[in-house]
Amino acid sequence: MEHKIGPRKRIGLVAHDNKKPDLVEWSRFNRRLLADHDLVATGTTGTLLEDELGVGILKLQSGPLGGDQQLGALIAEGEIDFLVFFWDPLEPQPHDPDVRALLRLAVVWNIPVACNRASADFMISSPLMTSDYERQMPDYGSYIDRYSAGD
Ligand code: PGA
Repeated sequence: MEHKIGPRKRIGLVAHDNKKPDLVEWSRFNRRLLADHDLVATGTTGTLLEDELGVGILKLQSGPLGGDQQLGALIAEGEIDFLVFFWDPLEPQPHDPDVRALLRLAVVWNIPVACNRASADFMISSPLMTSDYERQMPDYGSYIDRYSAGD
């Protein structure tokens, strides 16, 4: 099964506090590329990026207040095509379970995830960012059906 994605992608953006300067700088550098896509971010990250880029960003709750979970839900609904998530490897977060859940859902649904600037640089400059792409969807049919086998 595939999920067809057009040239305009929906990009999720999240940065933990110590990583926000990194994400803001990365976004400034890639402003022109980002302008071709729709952006959705956790609350504080989104406010900072809106100020920096001067574009409208769909802002969810702040991460610790449920924003990471909202982003995870959007991934599960097929609404996110690329996740830029600069999480902080040196500091525990009050919402560590949500952080883990977001990263997990990105893998479950085969969403490209950039967790640091180098990865984000490689991914944002990929020709796939501006072309059609058929994202392979894992087939979870047998997982979903596992309890109905005896029906
Ligand atoms: P924030 O959330 O953008 O609201 O700071 C990010 C996070 O900590 O997950």
